[in-house]
Amino acid sequence: MVKIGVLGLQGAVREHIRSIEASGAEGVVVKKVEQLEDLDGLILPGGESTTMRRLVDIYGFMEPLRAFGREGKPMFGTCAGLIMLANNIVGYDEPHIGLMDLTVERNSFGRQKESFEADLPIKGMADSYTAVFIRAPHIVSVGAETEILAEYEGRIVAARDRNFLGCSFHPELTDDHRLTQYFVEMVKQAKQVLV
Ligand code: GLN
Repeated sequence: MVKIGVLGLQGAVREHIRSIEASGAEGVVVKKVEQLEDLDGLILPGGESTTMRRLVDIYGFMEPLRAFGREGKPMFGTCAGLIMLANNIVGYDEPHIGLMDLTVERNSFGRQKESFEADLPIKGMADSYTAVFIRAPHIVSVGAETEILAEYEGRIVAARDRNFLGCSFHPELTDDHRLTQYFVEMVKQAKQVLV
């Protein structure tokens, strides 16, 4: 069984553990850098990216997280976690972790749409998937190797770049675990190659 961590410094952590377990993998809340060593994959949850960034720096997670992703281990960023992974953030000079080749814009769905649900297709995965958006970012553009997986109202809301998966919405807040299952498959495949 693969072991998947959820960065547990801030945000929607428990719900991701539940979804990982429902997808047939072991889920671990990660609060210490040493825990990264025996993980096969990592989820960066939703929350507040500026707060998460501050805690990542305080607890010395930045370089270990970058090393984890560069090794080829899969990382999945949801909402604020996607902002953490992006290599470019509109209005910012520097990214946070910055490993995933795409540009995101924060809080980009407007005030009246602070929080909403939408049914959308996800490429190769679902004809209809209920996505929960909470003060969500969107993906403004993607790099040459990045595959667009979902769009909503003409905006990119899910993508994959090599071992990095990201979405604007919160896949852990419904009982539809297909996106987490997709990530679990990425982790299983990477584990075979990386051994
Ligand atoms: N608005 C948050 C940010 O910019 C993300 C919101 C979320 O993760 N639900 O970090």
